[in-house]
Parts: sequence; C-alpha cells; structure tokens
Amino acid sequence: MALADIANRLTDEVPWRTCATCHHLEQMSPADAKTLRALLADRGVRFKDLARELEEDPDSPTIPWEALSRHARGGCSARENLR
Ligand SMILES: [Zn+2]
Repeated sequence: MALADIANRLTDEVPWRTCATCHHLEQMSPADAKTLRALLADRGVRFKDLARELEEDPDSPTIPWEALSRHARGGCSARENLR
C-alpha cells in the first residue's frame, strides 16, 4: 500500500462539524465529485438509496444520507442548492 493511501485512511475522519458531503467531495477525484454532484441534483435519486450504494461500494466513501440531503439542499456552509 502506498504511503499516501495510509495517510488517506488515517485522516479520513470527517472533522468535527464539517459537512461529510463537502469533506468527501474535496477528497475524491474531480470526475467522481462531478458524478456525485449529478446524483445529488437528480430528483429521481433518493438520498437513502444513494447513501446505501456508497456504503456498499468499497471504492466510495460512506456518507450518511442526512449529510447528503443537507448538502444537496443548501443546508451546509457550501450553500449548494442542487435540488
Ligand atoms: Zn456540504
């Protein structure tokens, strides 16, 4: 395992009071972040379903559905109104 991966794993904790969605959007590749934003903006995608899919995918971060919902509705400091 590359040292960078170890550093990522050790520092993957979401800082206190930081939006988990913001945190993980920042950590992932621009392509992944774009895809996640598109999913967050898609009214046909339920936050609970998206959170479950993320949790089941070993390559994706686990983000609680509440954090996805809050972020997509402009409820965190990023003020992104995606839906
Ligand atoms: Zn956020």
